[in-house]
Amino acid sequence: MNWAVADVVGIREETPTARTLMLRVPDWKGALAGQHIDIRLTAPDGYQAARSYSLSSAAGDPVVAVSVELMPDGEVSPYLVRGVSVGDQLEVIGPLGGWFVWRPEQTEPIRMIGGGSGVAPLVSILRTHIASGNTASVKLLYSVRSPEFVYFRDELAELTDAARAEVTLQYTRHAPQGWTGALGRIDAARITAWAADDASDTSTYICGPTRFVELASDALVATGVDPMTIRTERFGGA
Ligand SMILES: Cc1cc2nc3c(=O)[nH]c(=O)nc-3n(C[C@H](O)[C@H](O)[C@H](O)COP(=O)(O)OP(=O)(O)OC[C@H]3O[C@@H](n4cnc5c(N)ncnc54)[C@H](O)[C@@H]3O)c2cc1C
Repeated sequence: MNWAVADVVGIREETPTARTLMLRVPDWKGALAGQHIDIRLTAPDGYQAARSYSLSSAAGDPVVAVSVELMPDGEVSPYLVRGVSVGDQLEVIGPLGGWFVWRPEQTEPIRMIGGGSGVAPLVSILRTHIASGNTASVKLLYSVRSPEFVYFRDELAELTDAARAEVTLQYTRHAPQGWTGALGRIDAARITAWAADDASDTSTYICGPTRFVELASDALVATGVDPMTIRTERFGGA
């Protein structure tokens, strides 16, 4: 696999601090839901920095989408969120990753827990699941600071309304007016209660900041969930 030069063909402002970049990658042959690409930036002096970004697009989508959260002191994300324009080119390699993936031939129920930008590959799984006509049940617990920071807000609301997926938002700082759901950081008790009635063969996907992923994973294992049925992706940070 080699680095390729992708064209930025679209940009969507996802939240005040995140963007979805749509990329056309030469010779792209599709991906598995949950996989990522690496994006490499090169400074005028030749210094290079590469970072991984999960695909938020469906597996078979010919246009590759990544959804990037701004890390204000970061090397790569500030450029991707604030500097890139449609028509620019980016060096990419992928698709990468073989464990944190969902395949349409999987028939067991799906349980997903995402924190912040960690929802990106979970949305790829949701989109791929729907596009494939797979009828297994799918549920998502999405931890997010406040309403304006919800990625894919309208799409997630539509999926819930159409009963295509059970999407539960958990606001950690501010909830919308009239909110009757949970508020505050996700803890073990919350995860245990949310997963209590799930079938024992359910597959779990957890993605987000490292500590968030570990907390969610440990909470499920403590309730007796088989660790081999839990796939995790750590985005870094605390
Ligand atoms: C497999 C994989 C998939 C990923 N997919 C995505 C994605 O879809 N969207 C996305 O926005 N990011 C994703 N990431 C994280 C991404 O690769 C970068 O780490 C992130 O964009 C920060 O890069 P940076 O160069 O801006 O910051 P850096 O220069 O690497 O770091 C700057 C500071 O931010 C901290 N930091 C780095 N990452 C995080 C984080 N996730 N949370 C909190 N603090 C952090 C660092 O510890 C450091 O203090 C993924 C990571 C992995 C390993």
